[in-house]
Amino acid sequence: MARGVKSGDSSASLLSELRLSSDKARFAGTPTKGHVMHRGACLCGAITFEVTGALPPPDACHCSQCRKQSGHFWASTDVPRAAVTIHGADKVTWFRSSEKVRRGFCSTCGSVLFWDPIHRDWMGIAMGAFDSPTHVRLAKHIFVASKGDYYELGDGVPQHER
Ligand SMILES: [Zn+2]
Ligand SMILES: [Zn+2]
Repeated sequence: MARGVKSGDSSASLLSELRLSSDKARFAGTPTKGHVMHRGACLCGAITFEVTGALPPPDACHCSQCRKQSGHFWASTDVPRAAVTIHGADKVTWFRSSEKVRRGFCSTCGSVLFWDPIHRDWMGIAMGAFDSPTHVRLAKHIFVASKGDYYELGDGVPQHER
């Protein structure tokens, strides 16, 4: 939070509006692929990131790994790695959760940010870390066969067993 700005939701949204208006000035006209920029950060702000281009529709993963790491379930969008810029990358701790995947979180505040299949050219980014508006809606629930027994999914979003 900037010095002299009162904390709270209203000033936070004011700040994001200011950022948006500066984006509009930079990218005058109708946003098109390549001109849209989405920003996000971890809870403590040590890590920030930018994604160029519109975000693909996110999914919510209910597998046991995502449940344990996130504390509930994990909603993310898969974007081309080349579209992602990470600032404060030295603050990212990578946990190799399987042979082919590493998961990145903030070593200071613990925010879970990245799901990175290391042999692919894309990576998943946590929806909760993005500034609003994201301009996307949750597209599907996956691995619902592994979901916790303490909640129900009644949002009408398609569910997949795996
Ligand atoms: Zn942090
Ligand atoms: Zn998962």
